[in-house]
Amino acid sequence: MNRIAVYCGSATPADPSYIECAALTGRTLAGRGIGTVYGGGRLGLMGAVADAALAAGGEVIGIIPQALVDAEVAHRGCTRLETVTTMHERKQRFTDLSDGFLTLPGGTGTMDELWEAMSWSQLGYHTKPVGLFNWQGFYDPLVAFVDRMADVGFLRAQHRDILIVDSDLDRLLERMAAYQPHVPITRMAREEL
Ligand code: AMP
Repeated sequence: MNRIAVYCGSATPADPSYIECAALTGRTLAGRGIGTVYGGGRLGLMGAVADAALAAGGEVIGIIPQALVDAEVAHRGCTRLETVTTMHERKQRFTDLSDGFLTLPGGTGTMDELWEAMSWSQLGYHTKPVGLFNWQGFYDPLVAFVDRMADVGFLRAQHRDILIVDSDLDRLLERMAAYQPHVPITRMAREEL
């Protein structure tokens, strides 16, 4: 993996360990020679990922809508900051520029990005690994919900493992690098759907 799209919160939680999680991620990606593609913000976990990756000599590409540049939340220190017009264009750029998706703790924007990466994988719009860094069990309820979707039958058995979940970042990155793409819905037999 040469570049990974990192999705994470733009807020700064009161508990400082979440910022540590983001900084660890930025450092680790740079240390492995993996470029960071992200939302281009300077706030919260987003800013902490970018700052740490840049400080460790890593490449950081920010993709940000003009409206957020106007709101002055853009990170001006990125290796490259791409300004786009719409959120759809932004997410397409995340997908085009990266070799995988890594989600850290975050809120609704982060969830939007994570679920799209999973959904597009099922549909075959990309074949890249989708990793979830389950930092200190933050995502335990989400993992339980994914299991529930699979148990009830809304998530097909063939797609249950699209989401690669790990609480150890190095192990997660190794698992993402070894990912074998799933059979997408477009290539499944009619009786399997
Ligand atoms: P949230 O989890 O709701 O804080 O949303 C964070 C995600 O949505 C990030 O991965 C970004 O791609 C995008 N996003 C939300 N807020 C901002 C912001 N202030 N600056 C840049 N991107 C943002």
